[in-house]
Amino acid sequence: MGYNLFNVKEVSGVFNSKLNDFRASLGSAVCKGKNITFADNDITYMLKLQHERLSKKGLELDYDIYSRDDNKNKFMTGSNWRDTHYESTVCFNQSGIKRKVRKDGKIKYKDDHKSVLYETITDVVTGTHPDNDPICCPNCGALSTVAGLQNGCSHCRTKFQMDDLFPKVTSYYFLDSPGMTKEEFRSGYLISYTITLIAMFILCLVLRKGIGSYIVSAIASIVLAYILYAYFLLMKLIVGAISSAGKMGTAGSRRKFETRMKKISPEFSYEYFTSKTLSLIKTAVFSENEKDLLFYEGEKLDPKMKDIIDLNYGGALGCESIHEDGDFVTVVTKAYFDVLYAGGDKVFFKKQVFSATLKRRTDIPVNFNFSMTKIACPSCGASFDATKNKNCPYCGNKYEITTDDWALVELKYN
Ligand SMILES: [Zn+2]
Ligand SMILES: [Zn+2]
Repeated sequence: MGYNLFNVKEVSGVFNSKLNDFRASLGSAVCKGKNITFADNDITYMLKLQHERLSKKGLELDYDIYSRDDNKNKFMTGSNWRDTHYESTVCFNQSGIKRKVRKDGKIKYKDDHKSVLYETITDVVTGTHPDNDPICCPNCGALSTVAGLQNGCSHCRTKFQMDDLFPKVTSYYFLDSPGMTKEEFRSGYLISYTITLIAMFILCLVLRKGIGSYIVSAIASIVLAYILYAYFLLMKLIVGAISSAGKMGTAGSRRKFETRMKKISPEFSYEYFTSKTLSLIKTAVFSENEKDLLFYEGEKLDPKMKDIIDLNYGGALGCESIHEDGDFVTVVTKAYFDVLYAGGDKVFFKKQVFSATLKRRTDIPVNFNFSMTKIACPSCGASFDATKNKNCPYCGNKYEITTDDWALVELKYN
């Protein structure tokens, strides 16, 4: 998800505290299956599936999210988009993540990613009153309306204030960052200096030089260490660029894709499409049986995907083709992910490209606040849990996800 460099602002107030609370509760949601605060239903559901996958494999995954910067809790804003009632903003923070996978107390895998955490936060547009818009009770999950929850959930009776319901986090991912914070540069330089100094002293020792040479080498090392460190960083950057060269093509296709999609449906948002695609892929992969999922209309998934225990966006989503057929549009995408597998007795990391095909109707605009877990039946009005039923349990009508949102019609390894 790109962001406009000229539009970067610091996030403040309730937005910032909710973004931080979300970040703080992410680890325990994945590892312990605890509640995630201020997240929408789709994230909550996806994290629940991920936790169940881990439990079924008898694994524990520690998610230790740490701050890479002095400005620990500061999020910055990137791009945003809106429809008539809701506005979404991508916010980011320099957060590293340490992962540890354990089985029976033994560590099977660990890594440490210096990354940037992106969270999309969605709020009600000031001045609009989406009173009758459907929303799920954050306490019990029952379907209600925005006004309904403020008067008290009809199921669990909990009353909510607007602040409890919005803004909420509607998407998140970590992206490995090629840049470094001041602190990381400082500590990297210190290591470089120490190594250079030791090398110089050994040289002085071998050449049997006097005390003066040691002082000179200590001073010269300050500059030399800097040059060597800069050279090392440059090499690292080149290696990184080579390994991600395959993704480069996607940057150019983004603009073309966006222009074409905007012609088909003017409210199209690339950011929304990206976060939707990532969410659908993750939910399908983590599900026990994807055929039960309302939004999934494809074939049985490759059984290898059921060995996936963690799935993180690799920073690129390319559009391969767009196909229009009447009121439907079908988009084939190539999605890059960093994947953690647990197969047999091994846990391993792999960069993986998925081919994901999405479909939706073009004659009805997307509802940016749509949740796929709880929906209201369009024919009888009853609400039901769409993660368990594709048909309305009250009137039997088959619910078509493409009316409200994107459906995933194919997911395979590229
Ligand atoms: Zn409730
Ligand atoms: Zn119905």
